[in-house]
Amino acid sequence: MRHVMVEGPEGRAYIDGGPTVFTMRWIFEGLFADAGESLADHLAVHSTDLLARHAWRSGGGLDLFADIDRSVDAIGEFAGAADAQGYRDFCARSAAIYRTLETSFIGAERPSPLDLLRRVGLMRLGELWNTAPFRTMWSALGDYFPDPRLQQLFGRYATYVGSSPWFAPATLMLVAHVEQDGVWLVRGGMRAVADALRGLGERQGAQFRCGADVTRILVENGRAAGVELAGGERITADAVLFNGDAAALESLGAPGAPRPAQRSLSAITWCVNAPTSGFPLAHHNVFFAEDYAEEFRAIFDRREVTAAPTIYICAQDRGHAAPAPGMPERLLILINAPADGDRRDFDAADYAERTHALLRACGLEIGQGGSVATTPSGFNALFPATGGALYGQASHGPTATLKRAGARARLPGLYLAGGSVHPGPGVPMAAMSGRLAAARLLEDAAGRATPVRFAPGAGGF
Ligand SMILES: Cc1cc2nc3c(=O)[nH]c(=O)nc-3n(C[C@H](O)[C@H](O)[C@H](O)COP(=O)(O)OP(=O)(O)OC[C@H]3O[C@@H](n4cnc5c(N)ncnc54)[C@H](O)[C@@H]3O)c2cc1C
Repeated sequence: MRHVMVEGPEGRAYIDGGPTVFTMRWIFEGLFADAGESLADHLAVHSTDLLARHAWRSGGGLDLFADIDRSVDAIGEFAGAADAQGYRDFCARSAAIYRTLETSFIGAERPSPLDLLRRVGLMRLGELWNTAPFRTMWSALGDYFPDPRLQQLFGRYATYVGSSPWFAPATLMLVAHVEQDGVWLVRGGMRAVADALRGLGERQGAQFRCGADVTRILVENGRAAGVELAGGERITADAVLFNGDAAALESLGAPGAPRPAQRSLSAITWCVNAPTSGFPLAHHNVFFAEDYAEEFRAIFDRREVTAAPTIYICAQDRGHAAPAPGMPERLLILINAPADGDRRDFDAADYAERTHALLRACGLEIGQGGSVATTPSGFNALFPATGGALYGQASHGPTATLKRAGARARLPGLYLAGGSVHPGPGVPMAAMSGRLAAARLLEDAAGRATPVRFAPGAGGF
């Protein structure tokens, strides 16, 4: 959770430069509940009615709401009755996919295809088939939305796991359900989530050392035995839990680094502290490219940023108290980019003017202010061995989601968590992976199975 300091016309501001969409609050409630505490005592969140505001440069805009009926009306007005009914059917389908995979995949140790079959059960084989791993998300969305703009809007959920809707399995339609189930705005921004978790850890006796680069995982007698820091300091331990990208394991001297078939998306981002005018920004905003397919062809085939990319803006003060007109506000602006930050550099300046012009075409003017850019090379420095990929490996093809590393690394005593391992990327999934890794670690230490309680929607697992 990056907090980027940006100078602006009215002074400096701290801007969330990493994740901004907070979902699956129950996972975090569960973490606190497990420690005998309550999330609500440490984190102020409120749900938002307006999930996201979408605009197309060719014209037209659509707000999506937490209330399905409200979205149905908005979609009906935007695209017509067939798409409105399609949206209802799509919500039912994405909810069903989520239900099938909630306890069998998301909240459980990484399954093989056979495990998954076993967990879901032969009686529910039809449900598993309905998760549609063998269809692409783009083609499945065509069943629901005659209007290609809506195919584009809901196809964008593939990018939440750094993937292209043309290659991601239709199973990932479940991301839409996760958002429908609740998008939360956090007082103090996403940084407050990390602070709350750090506080919880400290009250449980954990010690945190920030700004300490691990250069090596120590191995003794064939087991992980601690870590070595950049300055040469060694910290010994009975077990090591690594939550950097699993692709970095080899460079840290641990065997078993997975070789991702294809890296997920990277990004060029700007944290901006400036006034805006023209377009009425919501908290989450998406300005869509006219040619969405070209955006992903450019990234995954030609390793380029397309000339006219889709632009996401998180206007971080909106949804709380809106900034007064003309006053600077905090924005995270993001465009997708290939994860080649370890092979070549992207000059953010080459893309800044283009991005401004595209936003202007939608009516949004961003005034004078401060800005801090991060390119794939910058993300590669933050997340070693990734090339700047923000979400581990791309979820392309029917089995990619089953190929992520699990909680136990190949090296005994080494455990893996984070967005590059099972159950996948995103803040709640990474938190879930930490819970799964902790359970495996305790299980191995005790020499017996540690039961993992899983009660979604009712305070975690
Ligand atoms: C710009 C951006 C936008 C995103 N938007 C969203 C969103 O809206 N919602 C959402 O849910 N998710 C979003 N994500 C994804 C989400 O942030 C990640 O999936 C999640 O944070 C992964 O958690 P993690 O613990 O695996 O890794 P991280 O949060 O990346 O933390 C791992 C930390 O380990 C450090 N590290 C790595 N290697 C070493 C080493 N050798 N020594 C010391 N430290 C090391 C890294 O520097 C990093 O600080 C976004 C990510 C980015 C970058």
